Amino acid sequence: MLTIKKLRVTHRTRNGTVHAVDGVDLTLRRGETLGLVGESGCGKSTLARAVMRLTAPASGRILLDGTDVTRLTGRAAALFTARVQMVFQDPAASLDPRYTVARAIAEPLLPTVRDAAERARRVVALMDDVGLARALADRFPHQLSGGQRQRVAIARAIAPRPDFVVLDEPVSALDVSLQAQVLNLLVDLQERHGLAYLFIGHDIGVVRHMADRVAVMYLGRVVEIGDWSDVVDGPAHPYTRALMAAAPAAHPDAGRAATRTVLAGELPSPFAPPPGCAFHTRCPLAVERCRREAPALRDAADGRRVACHLAPAQSAEPNPTEANTL
Ligand code: SF4
Ligand code: MG
Repeated sequence: MLTIKKLRVTHRTRNGTVHAVDGVDLTLRRGETLGLVGESGCGKSTLARAVMRLTAPASGRILLDGTDVTRLTGRAAALFTARVQMVFQDPAASLDPRYTVARAIAEPLLPTVRDAAERARRVVALMDDVGLARALADRFPHQLSGGQRQRVAIARAIAPRPDFVVLDEPVSALDVSLQAQVLNLLVDLQERHGLAYLFIGHDIGVVRHMADRVAVMYLGRVVEIGDWSDVVDGPAHPYTRALMAAAPAAHPDAGRAATRTVLAGELPSPFAPPPGCAFHTRCPLAVERCRREAPALRDAADGRRVACHLAPAQSAEPNPTEANTL
């Protein structure tokens, strides 16, 4: 199980400091898919990069079965790398153009599978696993279609037999006709290999196809998290409601006309996020308190957690243990 606690990631730029991830708590359970949604720039990809140890957090912890992965070095770091893998949005950019399909898939096996014949056998099995014809083994990325390239990237990711795979918008660079095929492949691989996915997307319809639970991010913070069906059927945070309304295909039978909220205004600059509730500049329900006080993420109905002053609380007694492990 992967647990993220009070994670903060800051980027220093010429224009100032951005709190790209600003105090996020999340848990990814074995074998589940947690969807992570929000507008671009909300911190989803930065969160993923921190989980992959590609970005060092400013503070907070990322625990894999109780071990803080942000502090790993040497062999322990290499073992972690095998357990948590990532598939990026654009396979053309994530694959080395000089590597054939077979070599690209074999590469992550080099540290653990020393025997060349055994490695070759594993590469063939992985190609079968992701639905790549064996005849493609000697092709280079530019000789493949976008869908085939993403299958190579997926084969590379599952080659070290990880427990968790971070999928950062894995189908958004593909034609719509190919998206469903790749999503179905991901579901199939998850079932066969018991994988957990952190599935990042801005397209609610695509995330819906995959996710058991969903976390909604706004300007570096999680504003709502819960079971996918609860969140879609009754989004509790005004931002989630606006996102759902902006993606009508996500839930055609939800009585949209009655609940439709327009996501007004631009996303505020991450260099100067609004004080209080960061959503108050766009929130149709904002009251005076929202401008002054940032709402905490707290327990609401259906085991869901919501960061909004107006969301009804589940009970008077907050449970500090639950609050950390969602
Ligand atoms: Fe809107 Fe206030 Fe809730 Fe923020 S806390 S989402 S501004 S009602
Ligand atoms: Mg992104």
